[in-house]
Amino acid sequence: MSLENIMNTYSRTDLIFESGHGSWLVTKDGKKILDFNSGIAVNALGHCHPHLVDSLQSQIKKLWHCSNLYRIESQELLASRLVASSFADSVFFCNSGAESVEAAIKVARKYSQTRNPNKKKYKIIVTTNAFHGRTLATISAGGQEKHLEGFYPAVGGFKRVEFGNISQIIENIDEETIGILIEPIQGEGGINQAEDTYLKDIREICNQRGLVLIFDEVQCGMGRSGKLFAHEKYDVVPDIMCLAKGLGGGFPIGACLATKKVSQYMTPGTHGSTFGGNPLAMTAANALLDIILSKGFLNKVNESSVKLIDGLQKIIIKYQSVFLKLKGQGLMLGIKCRVPNSLLVDRLVEKGLLTVVAGDNVVRLLPPLNISNEEIDIAISIIEHVAHSIEIENVRK
Ligand SMILES: *Cc1c(COP(=O)(O)O)cnc(C)c1O
Repeated sequence: MSLENIMNTYSRTDLIFESGHGSWLVTKDGKKILDFNSGIAVNALGHCHPHLVDSLQSQIKKLWHCSNLYRIESQELLASRLVASSFADSVFFCNSGAESVEAAIKVARKYSQTRNPNKKKYKIIVTTNAFHGRTLATISAGGQEKHLEGFYPAVGGFKRVEFGNISQIIENIDEETIGILIEPIQGEGGINQAEDTYLKDIREICNQRGLVLIFDEVQCGMGRSGKLFAHEKYDVVPDIMCLAKGLGGGFPIGACLATKKVSQYMTPGTHGSTFGGNPLAMTAANALLDIILSKGFLNKVNESSVKLIDGLQKIIIKYQSVFLKLKGQGLMLGIKCRVPNSLLVDRLVEKGLLTVVAGDNVVRLLPPLNISNEEIDIAISIIEHVAHSIEIENVRK
């Protein structure tokens, strides 16, 4: 086998994983690795969770795909459960995070353009260090030069402001502005959280100016933050929310949730997806919700978070030549490093802990939400061991 026939869009390590159980991955040559990456916040319940396996196994014998020209009961069930657990009234199902953001942009434009047929309204305010996916519209919304280079022209209609800066939002609203798109906790950008009042102030501005507020919770949603949705922590609700990653527990799915007010103009023919809402994806997400919504589950996530944060803080203080500080909340954590983040990620995986880099020289820790206390202890001791050896090497230099 070789990478020769794979379009070269990822710089890959040589690791080949053959199976996964719970929080552990097993490589082709039999090495066990503790997974604090979770396929980038996707495997929310680790690998091969028995309830997901059972649910998918029984569905796979019944019906895989069914067009949205017909009713799909598991889709209606999942939508009703997401609506009952959120601010939203309706859901559009798709297959990925980028598609859920595309749907959100379309819902916001449709709402604004239907209500203002004579004005050309389309601008959405977005932030620095944002990540919303890799389609043309979402790389334009994200605005990272490294993602746009070679793919110009960018899709128009996005106005960028500094993440966390409320006055820049106010200054940049004009007659053409229709909404604000933001990650409540930035993932790829480096696990960045704004000040407590930032999202509340944004909500207030949206109310005053009649703007649509879109939260991209593709990474921080589905229990990652310790709440089902990260915005609950800030006591703010959006008009539209994008979900994907953890929602299917490893099965591809995306969802765009919206209030009736903003989604009412999305009528037959305005949007669609061949695969969106298919019975297999719906079964996976319903099974995931069975677990995540079960009594005490999110409490345990928060207990695990406290334990992990506590252990990490101690190491960060101890190895100040290696680490700078801890960022994030729940089980969406990032260690801002003094040494290159990629060096740390490489050393950690050598010692059996899988993590992933993020912007701002951060090493991201995204363990399965059902991580055990023993596994947290193992991760902390591997991080400490690696920090110790890097510190010694640096002293010798
Ligand atoms: C990963 C991610 C996306 C894109 O999701 P894909 O499934 O890769 O299209 C969008 N927004 C955020 C916040 C993400 O973390």
